Amino acid sequence: MSATAAERFLRDAAEKSADLVHREIIRRGMESYDAAHLKGRARIKDWEAARRKCQEIKREAVNHLDRYLLQFEEKVIAHGGHVFWAADSAEACAYITALAQRHNVRTVVKSKSMVTEEINLSHALEKIGVKVWETDLGEFIVQLRNEPPYHIVTPAMHLNRRQISELFHQKLGEAVEGDDPAKLVALARRKLREAFFSAEMGISGANFLVADSGVIAISTNEGNGRLCTSVPRIHVAVTGIEKVIPRLEDLATLWPVLATSGTGQGITTYGTLIGGPRRPGEADGPEEFHVVLVDNGRSGLLADAEQREVLHCIRCGACLNICPVFRHIGGHSYGTIYPGPIGSVLTPHLRGPEFQHLSYASSLCGACTSVCPVKIDLHHHLLHNRRNFVEDRGGGTPKPGEKWRFRLWRYAMQRPRVYAVGGWLMRRSLRVLYGLGLAGTVFDPMRAWNRRRAPVPLPKKSFRDLWKSELTAEDTKDAKVTRIDGV
Ligand code: SF4
Repeated sequence: MSATAAERFLRDAAEKSADLVHREIIRRGMESYDAAHLKGRARIKDWEAARRKCQEIKREAVNHLDRYLLQFEEKVIAHGGHVFWAADSAEACAYITALAQRHNVRTVVKSKSMVTEEINLSHALEKIGVKVWETDLGEFIVQLRNEPPYHIVTPAMHLNRRQISELFHQKLGEAVEGDDPAKLVALARRKLREAFFSAEMGISGANFLVADSGVIAISTNEGNGRLCTSVPRIHVAVTGIEKVIPRLEDLATLWPVLATSGTGQGITTYGTLIGGPRRPGEADGPEEFHVVLVDNGRSGLLADAEQREVLHCIRCGACLNICPVFRHIGGHSYGTIYPGPIGSVLTPHLRGPEFQHLSYASSLCGACTSVCPVKIDLHHHLLHNRRNFVEDRGGGTPKPGEKWRFRLWRYAMQRPRVYAVGGWLMRRSLRVLYGLGLAGTVFDPMRAWNRRRAPVPLPKKSFRDLWKSELTAEDTKDAKVTRIDGV
């Protein structure tokens, strides 16, 4: 019998968190991201105001999605483009493969697009004999390894230079001396150049669809996006319906906030606006321009008033980077295209209840919510999904003793003195227990934690004692201030 998604997740997560080489690569990657992100945020005068503005823009767009999408469609058609509404992955893939067959396409170049991963487009094209080249460097690397992207912004962040060099040697037949990054990039570039100039079709995603002007906005750092969208005869932009925004001027806020949250940059190296096929007299651009608007479960989310805001996501990856669970188990363990907190919230809606277990891949620390540039209340959505998980299984059966333990907990939480005495007793008994060397044994109430770890040293003072002494210190300080003021 094949393992369920939940079993695979538990197995892979346990494996990855024990892989110290993997954890070291991720730790280093995240450290440089943290530093860049912090610096980037400092560049924006009022980061919180910028987040609020982005939230307002996305809320307005998502609450009036029907109107803005129709406006976008009308403008694209007026510019000479085509718009196709795909209810699901199958419809989107069928449209694009039929287009490829009609135009006798043999080679496709793709720039980075998570939606195309979601609908498994490359596979559909390969099935009809089309050669697909991923042209974003990270995507190119994971394609050579025949694996999905590891992260929504940095698809190959789980690999170091040596591994990439070995991969290139093995798959591209050329050795790179000293794993020099510049030489590795140059090798990939040479290979990809050939693809760009032989491809008949270019496929991209879209970071935003601008309703009032009918253009798609793409942020990239490598220039491959522009080559994919302007060199081949046909350009197909594949995007989720939630990417629409009302006005061109909204990009003035969204673009820098996306870049800051994604990589810490003030703005990405290339910001491209595409509004249709090549016009008479223009030197470059495709002869045909198609936009495929993918629903694939998003309408269902739109209809859910409590979770609709999940559609505000601009796929910056910041919630993945800050998540302590993601940092330990990595992107592939989730078994989904969208990993991390946003993936755990979104995936059950896109792929069904089989992925509801992902809502437990969280410590509920709320770091994801605090960092999200569009202020999605991620950890509450995770809780919401946990509730759905339990309800879908008929309310769940409590473990033995669970009910009375919760009753006891409620009783203590409602009576501060009882709680304080309980805490005091617990600290003392744990001290004795640890003194006897029984940490992690069946006698230890903290066994779940302590059986695989050294017990955390017990604090001398409880939180309540510390709180009291802090308050007293504050009072004294205030009293001093009053006296000084009084003078
Ligand atoms: S949920 Fe927020 S932080 Fe996470 S990827 Fe989306 S926009 Fe970024």
